[in-house]
Amino acid sequence: MCNAVYKPHHSWIHKVRRIMQPLIFLNSEGLRSNPGLFIGWAILAGVAIQTGLAVASAVRRFFARSRQLTLEQERLHHLVRAAKAELQQAEAGKATWNGYRKFRVDQKVFECDGVYSLYLKPHDGKPLPGFKPGQYLTLGLDIPGRTKQVVKCYSLSDCDAVKDYYRLTIKWEKSPKDKPGIPPGVGSSFLTQKAQVGDLLNVKAPSGHFYLDLAQTTPVVLMGAGVGITPVLTMANAIAASGSKREAWFFFVCRNGEEHILRADIERLRPLENLHVVVCYSRPGPQEIRGRHYDREGRLTPDLLKELLPSNNYSFLMCGSGPFMKDMYEGLIAWGVPDERIHFEAFGPASVKRVSQAKPATTAAPETARATVTFAKSGKTAVWDGSVSNLYELAAAQQVRIDYGCGAGSCGSCAVAVRVGEVVYKDAPGFSVEAGSCLTCVGCPVGNVTLDA
Ligand SMILES: Cc1cc2nc3c(=O)[nH]c(=O)nc-3n(C[C@H](O)[C@H](O)[C@H](O)COP(=O)(O)OP(=O)(O)OC[C@H]3O[C@@H](n4cnc5c(N)ncnc54)[C@H](O)[C@@H]3O)c2cc1C
Repeated sequence: MCNAVYKPHHSWIHKVRRIMQPLIFLNSEGLRSNPGLFIGWAILAGVAIQTGLAVASAVRRFFARSRQLTLEQERLHHLVRAAKAELQQAEAGKATWNGYRKFRVDQKVFECDGVYSLYLKPHDGKPLPGFKPGQYLTLGLDIPGRTKQVVKCYSLSDCDAVKDYYRLTIKWEKSPKDKPGIPPGVGSSFLTQKAQVGDLLNVKAPSGHFYLDLAQTTPVVLMGAGVGITPVLTMANAIAASGSKREAWFFFVCRNGEEHILRADIERLRPLENLHVVVCYSRPGPQEIRGRHYDREGRLTPDLLKELLPSNNYSFLMCGSGPFMKDMYEGLIAWGVPDERIHFEAFGPASVKRVSQAKPATTAAPETARATVTFAKSGKTAVWDGSVSNLYELAAAQQVRIDYGCGAGSCGSCAVAVRVGEVVYKDAPGFSVEAGSCLTCVGCPVGNVTLDA
């Protein structure tokens, strides 16, 4: 039988037989009594080790190569995305417009209590420029019964992946419950209660410096409180639409389901692996269930960020009420987040004072240093002593008339020429004012100043 298997004229079988020989007698006396057998076994072990090492190294090389390929692929994807983002921004610049352009309200959608989304399409039917996620539109509202246009800013609430409309999501500023005598907000009342599908609105091109740079890949934390969700949701939507694998956290806080703005948009983000969604209800309703309607009970606080984020190594972008942003900002600074990695947008007068604005004790901050402000056209002079927060308020106290819009340095309505002196801002305003002018609603004098008002 054996002879039939080991045919001598098959030289390779012969070799195998010789190699296998030690195995055949491995457990027998032969191994000890036969040194040749031992050598055979050693050779076999050597060959096995050599082969194993060769295979392991080939597998290692294979995985290293495929890892390298994946990295190269990701780098290429990133380059393509960055180039696309740059191209879009360049296109946006080309197709933009000056002054007001007429837009038609194409759809008006109820979102939740007092909050509506307006879908705006250009009345001239021409293409829409793209925009940077986080930017806003300035509207010049012709409100019946008002002699002057009311100027208001609203953040774009969806990214520009959809090309033929702009979406705004607007909260109706009702009269305070405890002070029904106070009139509701002028602009938001008009847009949420009066404006209808088919109405034409005056719209300035998208602008603002609070945006997410899509060419970057640094991890980001996006935080929105109440209607402050609009710019940060646009940022999250833009990450999703670009197919970027950038790590992002999206936090949204509201009171409960009745104030859960743009729920469907938020839910669409959940399946994305790189985008973590956390919805906080500060006061959930009795029927609302954690895990189904919301993720966390309570306010969005720096402690919640510390609990959920693996580190503080993110860029933080937020929008919400003044107290919310102040708390978050101070908490992030205390957590060791560098000031330049914290970005925010106020929908009204600024509430956050950056640590980087702190001045040495010997030089008073411009907002508290005494100065004389002259309003040249009205022939009035006032002392700046830090008791008001900006030049617009100083002018108003002297009955000097200056146009007013957003109160946040975003719309440009309050711009006046500076004849003498220098005006500074606590934070770079969203509106780019022309050289020689200043935005009085956010500007403070540095030394004596003469304004053309
Ligand atoms: C860059 C930017 C982006 C923005 N994005 C959005 C957005 O996406 N969505 C959004 O909803 N808003 C947004 N806003 C806010 C928006 O521009 C308006 O400020 C907001 O709609 C309120 O304007 P209003 O004209 O309705 O209220 P205003 O008429 O300015 O009144 C504001 C508040 O003051 C109260 N008030 C009125 N008169 C008195 C009085 N005599 N005494 C005391 N209180 C009084 C009103 O009841 C109201 O609550 C944004 C603002 C900026 C600067």
